[in-house]
Amino acid sequence: MSILKVSDLKKSYDKGNTFAVNGISFEVEPQDIVGLLGPNGAGKSTTINMISGLLKPDSGTIRYGDGKTFDEWKRNMGLVPQELAIYPEFTAYENVEFFCSLYGFRGAKLKELTEKALEETGIQDAGKKRAGTFSGGMKRRLNIACSIAHEPKLIIMDEPTVGIDPQSRDHILNEIIKLNQKGTSVIYTTHYMEEVEAICNKIVIIDSANIIACGTIDEIRKQISGKQNISIEYLGEPAQAMRAAEELKGIRFVDNVQVSEQKITCTLTSRSEDLFSIIRPIANAGVKIVNINSTEMKLQDIFLSLTGKDLRDE
Ligand code: ADP
Ligand code: MG
Repeated sequence: MSILKVSDLKKSYDKGNTFAVNGISFEVEPQDIVGLLGPNGAGKSTTINMISGLLKPDSGTIRYGDGKTFDEWKRNMGLVPQELAIYPEFTAYENVEFFCSLYGFRGAKLKELTEKALEETGIQDAGKKRAGTFSGGMKRRLNIACSIAHEPKLIIMDEPTVGIDPQSRDHILNEIIKLNQKGTSVIYTTHYMEEVEAICNKIVIIDSANIIACGTIDEIRKQISGKQNISIEYLGEPAQAMRAAEELKGIRFVDNVQVSEQKITCTLTSRSEDLFSIIRPIANAGVKIVNINSTEMKLQDIFLSLTGKDLRDE
């Protein structure tokens, strides 16, 4: 059984000149927490807005459940949008009740679901307060409560932890794990690798509208196992260091060579190689090495190793 299967999805906002999403495919199976990871502008929101029916794809297919139409399946989805979608004049309770009522719930069942969603997001005590008076973190939690009250099979979250306090963030991540343990599948969009590592079992890494890596967290981990990040501090002219870097780029087991004013960094793709083959070209270029540091490559580094860009700078 499949919850969702997205195949070769494409979307352009400028009549095909550039693509915000350019051939994205992935599958969500029951109990998955799929992390859609990528920097700002990668195409994450565009992807999930197509999945949740807010945007029409230019091409590609989205299969819901085991072949349901969007209309048959949409009540099984809950979207937590990137922009807050709550009414500041309503109380927290009224907000959740309103969104839940859109799915046809009334009376005692509506009350039960509303109370449950407030409790699950840890804002039950503030149920009678107006949403407009809430802190950023509380608003985020309320935004989530509104999207999960109707007990969807698939919750789609668009960067729910951006700009909030660490306590709310931890609460949200824990809540996602709890919902998942009760059988809910999740698509979780973020530009924080550590969040993906903490809660997701599958990961789809997107950059500039395309998938650059995907698989289970374990599969992605295997890709980096045994790789070392090497950082070489030097004294001297960056121009000399650049020349050394050109030499390093030619070495079979060296990847991702970068030069700054103080440092040359690179990735060693195999543990068994002789470090001297890195040091020699640097010394030969007349660069004085003052420190060498080697660290195990982490999941956090994978985006950099695939794209040459640092996700953390975004
Ligand atoms: P992400 O959610 O990963 O930050 P988006 O899906 O929002 O990325 O954006 C992908 C690309 O599409 C970006 O280049 C963005 O500027 C562009 N884009 C997004 N929404 C619109 C829009 N409504 N009109 C025009 N361009 C858009
Ligand atoms: Mg976005």
